[in-house]
Amino acid sequence: MANNDFYEILGVQRNADADTIKKAYRKLAMKYHPDRNKEDANAEEKFKEVGEAYNVLSNPDKRSKYDRFGKAGLGGAGGYQSADFDPFDLFKDFMGGFGFGDIFGGMGTGSGGRRDRSRGGDLQIKLPLTLEEIAEGVEKKLRVLRNNECTSCNGSGAEPGTQTSTCRACNGRGEVRQVTRTFIGQMATITTCPTCQGAGVRVDHPCSTCHGEGRTRGESPVNIEIPAGVQDGNYINLRGEGHAGKKDAQSGDLIVVITEKEHDYFERHGDDILLDESISIPQAILGAQSEIPTLDGKIMLDIPAGIQSGKILRLRGKGIRHLNASGRGDQLVRVTVWIPGKINDDEKKIFEKLLDSDQLNPPELKNKSFFRKVKDAIFS
Ligand SMILES: [Zn+2]
Ligand SMILES: [Zn+2]
Repeated sequence: MANNDFYEILGVQRNADADTIKKAYRKLAMKYHPDRNKEDANAEEKFKEVGEAYNVLSNPDKRSKYDRFGKAGLGGAGGYQSADFDPFDLFKDFMGGFGFGDIFGGMGTGSGGRRDRSRGGDLQIKLPLTLEEIAEGVEKKLRVLRNNECTSCNGSGAEPGTQTSTCRACNGRGEVRQVTRTFIGQMATITTCPTCQGAGVRVDHPCSTCHGEGRTRGESPVNIEIPAGVQDGNYINLRGEGHAGKKDAQSGDLIVVITEKEHDYFERHGDDILLDESISIPQAILGAQSEIPTLDGKIMLDIPAGIQSGKILRLRGKGIRHLNASGRGDQLVRVTVWIPGKINDDEKKIFEKLLDSDQLNPPELKNKSFFRKVKDAIFS
């Protein structure tokens, strides 16, 4: 039984503000997206349901009508859901925020796509990015090898200046009607004409450039804007940038899969980046200034005197920009005190002298609470 209460579907109060509604939708749409729930047949229904609820509640005009009259206020029996409403498109627009794109982990299989046979194929490419590029977002110019519309015949497949005739299989309609018998009676289905692939015309003189295919293979430039904060495995769907379709059919999509290049210094943890920094024993005791790399150049880091090995220093806002939110992560610097394997006689003498120093010896081992405090300080 479908839930008719949009507020209940999104799990928000009736007086929830736009931001709350947005957040609730994001969470649920991500949770129920069919690409992530291949084994769960109910997920797609749920996904559509939250999309429908968000579509209404995110629009002040529709929301106020809904608040006063319920679904009926949105245009009668079922009419609130306009023909061109597609929960998958809604989600794409929502996630991209810049007119294109799916951005989230896992590969989609076009669950929401309305495919027809003459539609161009999808293309998938990998795009390796550095952490620096990911941290700020980047624009990339790609060269994509794909089937493009033939420029000689403009994709018609017919030699320029020649006549085409009406497709006999469909009488020019581009569609054929098939009647099948089922146990509840005859059912008519309408499909794209297989003879002319929906074009409705027959090519009598094929184009000499593309041999009637309407497409030629070649490298094409494609610009893509990568928002900051993407992760390995995220993908961006560029609609219509895949292979050109046959004749006038839709082009396929170009699916750009983000991969993250390994960084020389940094390890990524969500939107934080971690740097390991080794210091000497005297530096740990006396404190030091150490030049360290950040995502935007080197800086001097103050290492406080008396730092424990393993302590993590946090540089706020020096990490990766959040995807779909303002602000950015931090840079974490994990300080390790480096213990040399070899020392010379002079150094040995100094350390031997220090052996008896009370200040240099850790508190008695039986005092466990001290160690717990040290541990807390390191992992906090
Ligand atoms: Zn051609
Ligand atoms: Zn036809």
